[in-house]
Amino acid sequence: MSGVAVHLNELRRSFGGVPALDGLDLHIEPGELIALLGPSGCGKTTALRILAGLEDADTGRVLVDGKDITALPASKRDMGMVFQAYSLFPHLTALENVQFGLKLRRRKDTSRAADMLDLVGIGTHGARYPHQLSGGQQQRVALARALAIEPQVLLLDEPLSALDAKVRVQLRDEIRRIQTEVGTTTLFVTHDQEEALAIADRVGVMRAGRLEQLAAPPEVYLRPASAFVADFVGLSNRLPGRLDGDAVEVLGTRLPLVSQATGGPEVIALVRPESIIVVPDPTGDATVLSTAFLGPTSRVTVTRGNDVIVAQISGELLAGLPVGAPVRVELRPVAVALQDAA
Ligand code: ATP
Repeated sequence: MSGVAVHLNELRRSFGGVPALDGLDLHIEPGELIALLGPSGCGKTTALRILAGLEDADTGRVLVDGKDITALPASKRDMGMVFQAYSLFPHLTALENVQFGLKLRRRKDTSRAADMLDLVGIGTHGARYPHQLSGGQQQRVALARALAIEPQVLLLDEPLSALDAKVRVQLRDEIRRIQTEVGTTTLFVTHDQEEALAIADRVGVMRAGRLEQLAAPPEVYLRPASAFVADFVGLSNRLPGRLDGDAVEVLGTRLPLVSQATGGPEVIALVRPESIIVVPDPTGDATVLSTAFLGPTSRVTVTRGNDVIVAQISGELLAGLPVGAPVRVELRPVAVALQDAA
C-alpha cells in the first residue's frame, strides 16, 4: 500500500452563519501523517468530516491523488475511519467486525481480517465480543477494521481520547508504527498537544477555522509561528520584556526571537517553563510560592515582584526549594515568541 496526496483547498463551511472553516488550505504528502491540533471548536472535526465526505463544504475542493472528489459521496471515497467512540458492532466478534468492512467492499480475502488483528496486536482476541474487550483493545479492532480495506486515506478523530493515560501512549505509539508500516496517508485530529507532537510528521495548529502553522513537531514547539501557537503548544510564562534589536531582554537576559518582532519596545515574552532556572539564593529577589513533584520532572512556581513564574526542573532539585525560600531566576538563552504588551 502506498500513500496518496491529499489536498484540502480553500475549504469554507459555516453553521448558522458562524464559520467553522474559514479558508482552510492543507496539503498532505503521500504516506504522511498530519495531526490537526487546536482548541475546541476550531474546526478540526469539520475538516476531517469534509475530507471523509460526511459533511459538505460551502466552497472549496477536496483532492485525493490529484482527483477532485468534492462531489463524491462518503460511501464512494476510499477512506478508513476511527472515531473517539469505539463504534464496533456489539453483536459481532472482533474478527467479524473487521470482516464486515471487507464484505462491504466485496473483498473475498477473509484471511486479511485475521492478519489485520495480528498487525494491531490482538490476533488472539478475534473471537471476543466488544464488551469482552478493554477500551484500548476495542480501538485496536476499530483500527484493524479501518486498515483492512487498504484505504487510500486513514482518518482518525480523537481515537485515543476515551482511553486512560498509559493505554493512550501505548496505542499512540502503535498507531504510528502501523501507519509507517502500511504507509497510508493519514489525518489525525486531536486537541492533545503531546499526542500531536509525538505522532505526526507535521502538526497543523488550527485557530478559528484556519491553519496558524503547519510544520514538523520540533519546529512548532521551538519556533512557533505566533503567540497563539506558542501558547497552545506547551505551557508558557508571560514575562515582560524590552525589544533590543533582534533580541528581547527579559529578567536581565537577552533572548533570541523566533520571528521578526513587530511593535514594541515593551513586549510580553512567552518563555517555556523548561527555559527557566531557579537557584536557591538568600539574596535572591524571588520567592518559592509552590512546588509540585511530577515524577521525572517537577514544577516550581515563584513570585518575583508582580510576576508569577512557573519553572520545570528535574525532580531531585525540588528538595532545595522549599516554599517561602528566597531564590533567583535565570533564563536559558532559548528563542522566544512575543506578544504585544496590553
Ligand atoms: P472539538 O475539539 O471540540 O471537537 P473541533 O475543533 O473539532 O472541536 P468542530 O467540531 O469542527 O471543532 O466545530 C467547529 C465549529 O462548528 C464549532 O463552533 C461547532 O459548534 C460548529 N459545528 C460543527 N458541526 C456543527 C453542526 N453540525 N451544526 C452546527 N454547528 C456545528
